[in-house]
Amino acid sequence: MLKLDFHPAGRHFLQIPGPSPVPDRILRAMSYPTIDHRGPEFGALGLKVLTGIRKIFKTSQPVIIYPSSGTGAWEAALSNTLSPGDTVLMYETGHFATLWKKMAEALGLQPEFLGLPGIEGWRRGVQADAIEARLRADSAHAIKAVCVVHNETSTGVTSDIAAVRKAIDAAGHPALLLVDTISGLASADYRHDEWGVDVTVSGSQKGLMLPPGISFNAVSKKALAASQSAKLPRSFWAWDEIIEMNKSGYWPYTPNTNLLYGLSESLDMILEEGLDNVFARHQRLAAACRAAVTAWGLDIQCADPAVYSPVLTGVMTPEGIDADQVRKTIYERFDMSLGTGLGKMKGRMFRIGHLGDANDLTLMATLAGCEMGLKLAGVKLAASGVAAAMDLLGEQRIPALKMAAAA
Ligand code: PLP
Repeated sequence: MLKLDFHPAGRHFLQIPGPSPVPDRILRAMSYPTIDHRGPEFGALGLKVLTGIRKIFKTSQPVIIYPSSGTGAWEAALSNTLSPGDTVLMYETGHFATLWKKMAEALGLQPEFLGLPGIEGWRRGVQADAIEARLRADSAHAIKAVCVVHNETSTGVTSDIAAVRKAIDAAGHPALLLVDTISGLASADYRHDEWGVDVTVSGSQKGLMLPPGISFNAVSKKALAASQSAKLPRSFWAWDEIIEMNKSGYWPYTPNTNLLYGLSESLDMILEEGLDNVFARHQRLAAACRAAVTAWGLDIQCADPAVYSPVLTGVMTPEGIDADQVRKTIYERFDMSLGTGLGKMKGRMFRIGHLGDANDLTLMATLAGCEMGLKLAGVKLAASGVAAAMDLLGEQRIPALKMAAAA
């Protein structure tokens, strides 16, 4: 019989690249009693989160908050800006880029999928020059949008969005730029306005340290203008009515009250630490994680150091070792969840999440679990990754962590 034991002793290590662990401060904030979503207190909460979230996207434009997972915000981005039969240029960075393309097809768009062949494209970032060349060839401007994933959660590759913007401008092409930073927001540097992004899609369960359940569209003036003539059917996702009601802190439907309490707390935590410090902390943990993988003698899924993800590291297992078997061993022996290999990478890699509410010792425990599990699964390790990461974290100064001096 299935044993329903959801809470073994000690804490579960949730080291998947999202949902990430939810800190106590946020859990407590979410436990406030649910209030009237048409009352005055709610309006104040609504205005606070709608204003605060713009700082995270680095935009002065509206950010729409949906009570949905990130997939809903993907659909919102497409359905608000495009019309049936429109050509969209999408770039294959991995599993999530592939799913977004499938959605575009299902909605009646005509996606063109650019990318490097085989798994090579899943080991590198978006090639902006290929996008530029394709847009230059489109002299009739049939392509209405370029869609890219900023942080590809299936591989651990963070693409250069500013370079994609430059490519579109260099080609003199009017296509909209739609970007998925569902797993990049509040972990990796992101600048909606400065990078000229038209719609940024994101979600709650990664860098914002919230449970799954809310998602976002940050929208530029050009995207808002496009939404006036876009013909794809939409109702729940339609921006105009939401933006109108958001002006006073409300939504046209029942919003996700307790998750918005959580978002309010998350914004306080992130802005207290400072976005740059948050990014530096992620970079530091990612560097230590990669040091461990390299010491083990295993390959990092991302083959281009210029686009290593600060959010997660993809670890390729040696020929003949099923990565899911390694994950299973680690889960059963050490109560730790790691990300599975998705799509083309099924069984060939596992993913270590080091995002959100994480610090040096969280990472060290995670790497210890990985190292023990790899050995148990019969993987011959070149050296101790735990020791390599410890050396690196012990050596470096810690500009990102401001700790009170010991008395
Ligand atoms: N895009 C990326 C990059 C993701 O990482 C995910 C989920 O992990 C999604 C889209 C889909 O989001 P959701 O599962 O919240 O619907």
